[in-house]
Amino acid sequence: MSEISSYAFSTRTVNTTPDEQYGAITAPIYLSTSYRLPADGSAAPYSYQRSNNPTREAAEKAIANLEGAAYAIGTATGMGVISTIFSHLKPGDHVVLSSSVYGGTFLYVGEFFAERGITAEFAPDINHLEEVPGNTAMVYIETPTNPTFRVTDIAHAAHLAHGVGAKLVVDNTFSTSYLQRPLEHGADAVVYSATKFIGGHSDVLAGFLVLDDAEAYDRYKTAAKALGNQLSPFDSYSILRGLKTLTVRMDKQQENAAKIRAMLAQHPAVARVLAPGWYSAEEAEIHARQSRGDGAVFGFELADGVRHEDFAAGLRLIPYAVSLGSVETLIAHPATQIHESLTPQERAAAGISDQLIRVSIGIEDSADLIADLTRALDGALAAH
Ligand SMILES: *Cc1c(COP(=O)(O)O)cnc(C)c1O
Repeated sequence: MSEISSYAFSTRTVNTTPDEQYGAITAPIYLSTSYRLPADGSAAPYSYQRSNNPTREAAEKAIANLEGAAYAIGTATGMGVISTIFSHLKPGDHVVLSSSVYGGTFLYVGEFFAERGITAEFAPDINHLEEVPGNTAMVYIETPTNPTFRVTDIAHAAHLAHGVGAKLVVDNTFSTSYLQRPLEHGADAVVYSATKFIGGHSDVLAGFLVLDDAEAYDRYKTAAKALGNQLSPFDSYSILRGLKTLTVRMDKQQENAAKIRAMLAQHPAVARVLAPGWYSAEEAEIHARQSRGDGAVFGFELADGVRHEDFAAGLRLIPYAVSLGSVETLIAHPATQIHESLTPQERAAAGISDQLIRVSIGIEDSADLIADLTRALDGALAAH
């Protein structure tokens, strides 16, 4: 681990691997795809961009360092990391997943697991599972889940996985290592879509796999090289730039989100607000134990008869758009915009009703956001 790892979290987001050669304060972007190699045939630190790249390594070191982990692997997208982590599953393997995983993860499982001889089980409540099948190779969770904000006890999921020699993988995109560090609770690997909070500006796709195990690191590094889904030097730079403001952005986003949830909870057009811990006192306690905050993404359900189309039509400031974790507030309708690849039955089983709206809060002035949402909700209520 590098020497800067003893600094506090926000210091580490800023002090990301300075340039050794010229003393540059920000990481230089190395675009070269190829590097001069020693004439005697000995190994060189860099040879070809798909294998290694100094800018990508700077981003990987920064991400690993924030997590307190030994290794990180940067990929072109969050799905790039998820497909890399699934690449070593073999015929006969079983995977237990949280029931409302990210839509792209659900898509991957549906497209590739059966034809590769892998079985999958979407478990609605991993907290109350006492064991997983003996052929389980991986337990794969998101906590809180997207977009139903259910909480899974990471330590319990690790215990279930390790009981049968399986690995626990946690998609920590919603929390980032600022709020929640799954490796500290027994997870074997953490996956990120850095497209979201880590990048933070809706302008770069990226993913990271974070882990401590040297052998697993080598295996996944080779997998990423074979799959060819590396994070590019430009995108590595954008991630390092975004990372520097992660804590100030998330502090402001969480502050705004708390104010907006309080307003929504009082509005007659809203049936209920879904944020981590909403489901039960037990989940609230688990979340408080393993996480430092509720994040800035949450859901709410419109009251019966209030149409989501009327609500969306009333928004002036906030765009109706997918994605999350950026400086601007975005609102989406999961049933038609995010989880449209699920059947209505699968959506119902995952708790995604047609009345559910997902909100990702940005860093705008909270009064402007509250005014926009209030107008849209008032309008939808009047139309109904
Ligand atoms: C967006 C997202 C992903 C996929 O990331 P991409 O960068 O879009 O490939 C995975 N997991 C979660 C929780 C996400 O929100």
